[in-house]
Amino acid sequence: MKEMEYRTLDGTDLKVSVVGFGASPLGNEFGAIDPDEGERAVRHAIDCGINLFDVSPYYGRTLAEERLGKALAGRRTEVVLATKCGRYDVAGFDFSARRVMASVEESLKRLQTDYLDILHAHDIEFGDREQIVHETIPALKKLKEQGKVRFIGVTGFPLTVLADVAVRGHTDVAMSYCRYNLLVRDLDTDLAPVLREHGIGLLNASPLHMGILTDCGPPAWHPAPDEVKQAGKAVAAICRRYGTDVSTVALRFCLDYPHTASTLVGMSLPSHVDANLRALTATIDPALLAEIDRTVSPVLNRVWQSGRRESKRRTGSVV
Ligand code: NAD
Repeated sequence: MKEMEYRTLDGTDLKVSVVGFGASPLGNEFGAIDPDEGERAVRHAIDCGINLFDVSPYYGRTLAEERLGKALAGRRTEVVLATKCGRYDVAGFDFSARRVMASVEESLKRLQTDYLDILHAHDIEFGDREQIVHETIPALKKLKEQGKVRFIGVTGFPLTVLADVAVRGHTDVAMSYCRYNLLVRDLDTDLAPVLREHGIGLLNASPLHMGILTDCGPPAWHPAPDEVKQAGKAVAAICRRYGTDVSTVALRFCLDYPHTASTLVGMSLPSHVDANLRALTATIDPALLAEIDRTVSPVLNRVWQSGRRESKRRTGSVV
């Protein structure tokens, strides 16, 4: 197997693996998992050179952090550990400084560590934007001064909100999801150039479009419009016809994008770790990519509403 590649995450001195471990599946977000297998997946990923792990108290309502903390016992110094604050349930948000301070203590306990490499404010489009800039981010900076957190960031879906808050709040990094993959690519025009100009690091999550670009298909809660799910299914069929697997092609496509340090893919099985590492050596047949692009073009960049409507009034675009 090819050795892992690492890239420096802008805005930080962190060297992160180009394939990162998204830990939301450890919280049963994509269906119940076997916790022992999840633990083995984490340890196998570290053995294979994956060093970036991303989690949140929201995933499985603390379950993913608990499980990841257990799996990382004895391996903490080998990884770059990122978690989040501000989102605690489907409709449960609290971006107050008080909650941020308490949240990080709870996360540290669950993750069995005394520092975080990255702390993100989670899904900021659901909060009051001015509160995020003037209260939440200053609280994150205080945690940085206290040495509990090394770098700070924001995550969310609407690119204009991410760009605005990351720049005005002077965060170190930002994480976007479902905005750069085979089905959606507007991250390249609407977020990456702004962050680059300000020296803010960029992490790209959900290369499989939260399960649409897999042979099993998406979970029932997936918010994408039906025609996007159908396009994903068609892409999977085209990949099979070319004798390859849609998830490998989808991940490779993201790894070929140079303006993000790492691509975070959700994993809870050792076999998915192995499958995703195969993307390191894969190449995409240009004829296959052309056929995928033709199939996807009617729905390319079709996204969904996420967060407060006020985002629309302020920016002219909710997404
Ligand atoms: P994803 O696109 O990575 O897809 C995950 C799904 O694909 C899971 O069902 C997983 O079991 C499956 N899968 C993974 N590898 C596979 C393979 N080789 N073959 C077949 N199926 C495979 O979506 P995601 O998990 O939502 O995103 C990755 C990570 O990014 C998350 O775990 C999380 O850490 C982060 N993320 C953050 C936010 C946010 O901050 N708002 C949002 C989305 C994702």
